[in-house]
Amino acid sequence: MIATCPSCSWPAPALVSSHGPIRYLRCVCGQWLVSEGGAVVATAGISVFSDSSSAEYSAPVTLPEH
Ligand SMILES: [Zn+2]
Repeated sequence: MIATCPSCSWPAPALVSSHGPIRYLRCVCGQWLVSEGGAVVATAGISVFSDSSSAEYSAPVTLPEH
């Protein structure tokens, strides 16, 4: 399991791309997820990633301590 959608609890969002330990996933409900090390660290609406000129997270982001 890569990540579970916090919005609809779908257990297998589709992997879209990855950068090192960070994985970008899209759920069947349209929610975007950012996963690091198997934990969802951020979620965002579709507009965030489709509009690169204003790439800001709409949800609070809590990065895990390393
Ligand atoms: Zn979902």
